[in-house]
Amino acid sequence: MRATIMDGRALAAKVQAEVAGDVAGLGDVGLATVLVGDDPASHIYIRRKHEAAQGVGIRSDDRRLPADISQEELIAIVEELNDDDSIDGILVQSPLPKHLDEAKTIEALDPAKDVDGFHPTNAGLLYLGRPALVPATPLGVMRLLDEYRVQIAGARAVVIGRSNIVGKPMAHLLLKANATVSIAHSQTVDLGRLTTDADIVVAAVGVAHLVAPDMIKAGATVVDVGMNRTDAGLVGDVDPGAAERAGLITPVPGGVGPMTIAMLLANTVKAARARRVANPAG
Ligand code: NAD
Repeated sequence: MRATIMDGRALAAKVQAEVAGDVAGLGDVGLATVLVGDDPASHIYIRRKHEAAQGVGIRSDDRRLPADISQEELIAIVEELNDDDSIDGILVQSPLPKHLDEAKTIEALDPAKDVDGFHPTNAGLLYLGRPALVPATPLGVMRLLDEYRVQIAGARAVVIGRSNIVGKPMAHLLLKANATVSIAHSQTVDLGRLTTDADIVVAAVGVAHLVAPDMIKAGATVVDVGMNRTDAGLVGDVDPGAAERAGLITPVPGGVGPMTIAMLLANTVKAARARRVANPAG
C-alpha cells in the first residue's frame, strides 16, 4: 500500500484564501512581529510571515530590535504594542538572545493578542479544554486531519515530543477531539511499541528519520512536524519509507510547514474578531 499524501501547501492556500475573505470583511487587521538580533533563520521566518500577511491583506508592523536590547526595553515595546488599538496580534520571534528571558517576555503580551498561543493564559485555557489562541503548528495539524477526514474520536494517537509549542498543545488538541493520547519524549523506552499500536502518529522531535517504517501500523495516519536540515536537504522526523505502510502521510517539505504560517494568519483574524466583539467601538 502506498499512503495518500496530505498536501499542506494546497490546504494552506485554501486557508489563506478564507483568511483573506475574513480580513476583507473585518476592514483592517494588524499583526506586529518583534525580532531581536540577527539570527539568520529568524530573519527568513519573519520575512515569510510578513509576505504571507500581506498576501491576505493583513497590515504588518515589523519591529527589528538590536541584539543588546535590555529586558526592560523589550517589555516596554511589547506593552506599547499591547496598548496600540490598531494592532490585533503580536508575536515575538524565538529564539531571543541569551540575556533575555523568553518566558517573561511572553508573559508581558496581552493574551488577547498572543497569536502564537504561547502565553500562560492561552496554554492554561487549552489545558482546560477551552482553547482560545492555540499555537499555529498543532492547529495546522488538526486542520490537516480534518481536511483528510481522519477519524480522531476513539483513535489511539501518539505524539512524539513534549515541547510547549508543538508536542504538548498537539496532545491537548487530540485529547479534546476524543483521541486516546500518549505523549512520547526523549526518555521514552521502546518508542516503537507505542507507535506500532497507534492510529495517528505525530512526530515533533527534530531528529531526522527517527520514525522508521516498521514503527508504523499499516494504514495509520502519520504527521511529520520535524524540520531537519541535512546534507540531503530538509527532511522530516519520519523515514520516507513509512509511506509504504501508512494510509495518510504528510511530506517534508510541503506538509505541516505551510500550514503553520496559514494558521498564524487565521489566529490573527480570530484575535481581531474577538477584540472587536469585546470592544465594538474600538
Ligand atoms: P524541541 O527541541 O523543543 O522538542 C523536541 C522534543 O522531542 C522534546 O520534547 C524531546 O523530549 C523529544 N525527543 C528528543 N529526542 C527524542 C527521541 N529520541 N525520542 C522521542 N522523543 C524525543 O522541538 P520543537 O520546537 O517541538 O520542534 C520539533 C521539531 O519540529 C523540530 O524539527 C522543529 O524544527 C520542527 N518544527 C516544525 C514546525 C513547522 O512549522 N513545520 C514548527 C515548529 C517546530
